[in-house]
Amino acid sequence: MTITGKTTVTGIIGAPVAHSLSPVMHNAAFGALGLDWVYVPFPVPPARLEAAVAGLAAAGVAGFNVTIPHKVAIMPFLDAIDPDAELIGAVNTVLVREGRLTGYNTDGLGLVAALAGKLTFDPRGKSVLVLGAGGAARSAVVSLARAGAVRVHVANRTTDAAVTLVDLVAGRLEGTAFAAGSLDALADPAFIGSFDLVVNTTSVGMSGDSFSGLDPALLKSGACIYDMVYAPPVTPLLAQCGAHGIPCANGLGMLVAQGEAAFRIWTGVAPPEGCMERALAAFLPEPCKP
Ligand code: NAP
Repeated sequence: MTITGKTTVTGIIGAPVAHSLSPVMHNAAFGALGLDWVYVPFPVPPARLEAAVAGLAAAGVAGFNVTIPHKVAIMPFLDAIDPDAELIGAVNTVLVREGRLTGYNTDGLGLVAALAGKLTFDPRGKSVLVLGAGGAARSAVVSLARAGAVRVHVANRTTDAAVTLVDLVAGRLEGTAFAAGSLDALADPAFIGSFDLVVNTTSVGMSGDSFSGLDPALLKSGACIYDMVYAPPVTPLLAQCGAHGIPCANGLGMLVAQGEAAFRIWTGVAPPEGCMERALAAFLPEPCKP
């Protein structure tokens, strides 16, 4: 890649940002399409967020991703927000056109694409249990409902947060019945057995921990589990699924698919099929490969 005066710049803002896998995926896709574009990590501390956003727009970047801790805090500094990102209450992708900034959220789109690609799971007409009620859960709930799920139950350690999430979306997403509750229900076989899909949107599993009371063997036949965690690549939950032959996948597919959606927003074209995932596979150490 040769950077010239004509190279179009994109990137990611976050704190920290050094661990991000997005530069690997996007630069591979720019290269594969022969686009004179580059993707750069920008470490931005919370106190400098407004200045950084204005500076990126003023410097003519075409767009950028937004990661922790800026996904919510950036919203007041944008000129427009996509309706679903507004509903989710968080932005992970910004498009800059003629100095005007528009915010999008591609995390939920990434989840639905990963469900299709990794598990051949279509949410239409299905019942889904979402574990967690943070930012990732909000994008999951909105996208699963948009994709046609008929029932979405949000279970969270802090029940109030699950109730708040459901109150936010219920009534704004027609055709889906929403419910909220605590994680205690996970131990009830009839409850667990009523879902077609369980999505872990919490950080449980990142440190080798698991949900007490959740036994994937209680899922109905054909039901799947999607774990948004991708490091480690096999969480205790996914190991349990493997032991029982339950279809499951980790969060790498979602990471790739949310990146593919952001790439389309900026460039107007799709990255070559599989390009971003192959770039990750070449970059990640052996045990973490997708
Ligand atoms: P967040 O807003 O901080 O929410 C964290 C959620 O995890 C909350 O619901 C929290 O429950 C729950 N939680 C944390 N520790 C827990 C524990 N020990 N037991 C039970 N629940 C616990 O974070 P987020 O942005 O939603 O991200 C959550 C996870 O999703 C992270 O692991 C992140 O890496 C992953 N993620 C993956 C992708 C991807 O592309 N694969 C994209 C986005 C996020 P309380 O409300 O009770 O605190």
